[in-house]
Amino acid sequence: MPDYVLPPPPVVSVPVDGDSRRFPVRRIFCVGRNYAEHAREMGGNPDAEPPFFFTKPADAVVESGAVLPFPVATADLHHEAELVVALGAGGAFVPTDAALSLVWGYAAGNDLTRRDLQAEAKAARRPWDMSKGFDASAVLGAIRPGSAVPQGRIRCRVDGRVTQDADLSEMIWPVAGIIAHLSRLVTLAPGDLIFTGTPAGVGPISARQTCVVEVEGLAPAAVSFR
Ligand code: MN
Repeated sequence: MPDYVLPPPPVVSVPVDGDSRRFPVRRIFCVGRNYAEHAREMGGNPDAEPPFFFTKPADAVVESGAVLPFPVATADLHHEAELVVALGAGGAFVPTDAALSLVWGYAAGNDLTRRDLQAEAKAARRPWDMSKGFDASAVLGAIRPGSAVPQGRIRCRVDGRVTQDADLSEMIWPVAGIIAHLSRLVTLAPGDLIFTGTPAGVGPISARQTCVVEVEGLAPAAVSFR
């Protein structure tokens, strides 16, 4: 063990469904515009765009059930319900037909977004980091082990009212294609998480509201703001 000048930061981790052990998080990658209706609502053209990626720091992870202070620096916090892929193996230039062999499990996630800062960044052609990668911006439910891609509905509720409701089959780039694409840009590693994009219906969450993301067959990802 080397000697450090500071105590090293703790390992960020997420609960695993049905297991007392936890999943250690390495990096968080996120796909933009992976459902046609959402691409249109954000002003994009779903037919003309390959997948693109942004990141959040690993320590942005929030466990389901957390009650958080309302984020700083925004007057327009948005929810984005997403299927999250947890990788158990890594690699580069992974062929699409081998991509699911990297998957350790899946979770429901909420890609919290400071939409006002994102709109400013887009208008000024600046990076998205401060609109996407802020403190406590990656809400995750418990990870369900297994590489088979979940099927069925993905929903978001704000104080019980359904705001997003789509089918996972509506993804433009399926899970295997996302992994294959991303592995051509970075060498993937065990512990990496990939948020796979959100369907239409993104919208605001206010202080004193609770937001729950549900993916069929997975544990929900809930967060409340004080
Ligand atoms: Mn997103």
